[in-house]
Amino acid sequence: MNKVSVAVLGATGSVGQRFIQLLENHPYFQVTHLCASENSAGKKYGDVMRKRWKISSDIPAYARDIIVTTPDPSRTPGVKLAFSGLDASVAGEVETAFANAGIHIISNSKNHRMAENVPLLSAEVNPDHLSVLSFQKTPGKILTNSNCTIMGVTISLKPLFEQFGIEAVMLFSMQAVSGAGYPGVPSMDILGNVVPFIGGEEEKAEIEPLKCLGKVVDGRIVHADFPISAHCNRVPVFDGHTVCVSVKLKKKATEQEIRKAWTSFRGLPQELELPLAPPAPIVYREEEDRPQPRLDLDTGKSMATVIGRLRPDPLFDWKYVVLSHNTVRGAAGAAVLNAELMVRKNLL
Ligand code: NAP
Repeated sequence: MNKVSVAVLGATGSVGQRFIQLLENHPYFQVTHLCASENSAGKKYGDVMRKRWKISSDIPAYARDIIVTTPDPSRTPGVKLAFSGLDASVAGEVETAFANAGIHIISNSKNHRMAENVPLLSAEVNPDHLSVLSFQKTPGKILTNSNCTIMGVTISLKPLFEQFGIEAVMLFSMQAVSGAGYPGVPSMDILGNVVPFIGGEEEKAEIEPLKCLGKVVDGRIVHADFPISAHCNRVPVFDGHTVCVSVKLKKKATEQEIRKAWTSFRGLPQELELPLAPPAPIVYREEEDRPQPRLDLDTGKSMATVIGRLRPDPLFDWKYVVLSHNTVRGAAGAAVLNAELMVRKNLL
């Protein structure tokens, strides 16, 4: 198959670096253009990233000599799809310009997430939401990922929502520093500390799962209807967001039924054997002290959601712990998986 020519917007950031890593030798995509701010433009990617590359493998050779440009569609000839890891201060305007120029966008930023005909796609959860793309007026279509904190939470809720119905959810996050981008939270603010505030995060955590679990009606997404209460905290962990979740179900379920709902859960990416799909989207850990970021973050190529500690909750019905990789499953990996699904659905 001919590879699709793609650009990475925000290629120098935390999410952008993951795109560069995950797109190396990708069977469907060929990275031809890298974009970032004026501070990085005009230089080779390898030179810009010499001190900024924060992933434990080397900068892939294919990317090192690409000259970084500012994100302007006139500078990305031949590109059909752009993966965006742009800062939210510029993402809205730039992504719209690319869509107007006929280039499809898969974005990690919040700017377009809540628009009625923009899917907030998690490939195992709501692949049917791709149908609303045809209602967008621009020649290039905009697709978004959910916020990294609730990506794993929503995957954990999906089988419970389908099989038992959900009445209410409460969650407490412990979010890694890489979630704040680079350079992110100053080391003197986070080392040996917990910061009980992340601007805008609780609002996103309380609404985005409802859109992901919603239904398409007449070309727009109607949200699922249950309340979510979120507490979001930054903790001194490098990668990996851990979330404690309490859930009240509509129909009573036993521990075994819930665990079976999770471990038997499979989605379209598994059925289609998409390149970045983890074999099982949810992995349940039996140990009483798992999941932990240091031990479980690589599960399923960092694309799996790891759950543990399912137990009764005296206020809700059940409580458990969810871990997912914020820059892989919560951002670049989810975006690449969504793009793989678009290819297989002939949407690119
Ligand atoms: P980041 O590390 O701060 O990177 C931001 C990127 O945007 C950099 O490449 C930067 O380029 C570029 N940029 C900034 N201002 C620009 C401008 N005026 N014109 C063009 N490019 C500009 O942020 P990040 O953590 O990767 O996050 C990127 C987006 O993904 C954000 O919207 C964030 O909310 C979202 N997100 C992040 C995570 C995560 O875990 N980090 C997860 C999910 C979603 P320069 O390097 O040249 O300044």
